[in-house]
Amino acid sequence: MEKKLFTQLFSCVIFFLFVLVLLSSPAASQEVDDESEFDYTKNSEKGPDRWGEIKPEWSACGNGTMQSPIDLLNERVEVVSHLGRLKRSYKPSNATLMNRGHDMKLSFEGEAGSIEINGTEYELKQLHWHSPSEHTISGVRFDLELHMVHQSQDGKIAVVGIMYKIGRPDSFLLSLRDHLENITDTTSGESVVGVIDPRAIKIGSRKYYRYLGSLTTPPCTENVVWTIVRKVRTVTREQVKLLRVAVHDDSNSNARPLQPINWRTVQLYRPNEKEEN
Ligand SMILES: [Zn+2]
Repeated sequence: MEKKLFTQLFSCVIFFLFVLVLLSSPAASQEVDDESEFDYTKNSEKGPDRWGEIKPEWSACGNGTMQSPIDLLNERVEVVSHLGRLKRSYKPSNATLMNRGHDMKLSFEGEAGSIEINGTEYELKQLHWHSPSEHTISGVRFDLELHMVHQSQDGKIAVVGIMYKIGRPDSFLLSLRDHLENITDTTSGESVVGVIDPRAIKIGSRKYYRYLGSLTTPPCTENVVWTIVRKVRTVTREQVKLLRVAVHDDSNSNARPLQPINWRTVQLYRPNEKEEN
């Protein structure tokens, strides 16, 4: 009898510990800066299928149920107008460029402004690029995807994704060219780039997809609010190559494979006609 009581008490304690862990880890972990511990090679020991086994704190990469990226299938999205326009209020700030091993990261040192989603303010922290794109639209993969990573006061993450196909040059990347070339030959090198104005990053459309996902690199933290701009912009082949060659990881890709959508819904925000005029 006493043993039974003990077992019940014990399972109760375990349950509360479990709840505590769940409550204390909402999207608090940022992307790792040293990317040498994982790679993008299919079937490799450190490849995307194994990320979740490399470290206990990366387990969400393997057993998460709301992982990114996903395919944004046009027939599956719920078209809505109540989400409202993406409220961006960025400002110029000092930035540093860093070669993380698989991508280039531009970090803002000061306050670069924020976006507002559902009444929560998310401050712009860093941006980086993936090639080819990680998200796809109805199965179509594009040449480049920019991720603008934001974080709220209480550690919640919101990422704005912009996709590019080959065409005319992207003016923002053009302004970074010299800095990118400067750190091309330095692995894990850093370069102070001075003041960068995030408002120079063009969106060109009010339409966007919204869904709940994760970081696409370890630790694959979930509950990330994703905003993917509907309009696919353009970039030159040279600009994509510059970002790729700069990281020197002997790989053609830093795009994580598509993840199962599971029970999630994807919304497509489209302003109603009154707002559009
Ligand atoms: Zn990313």
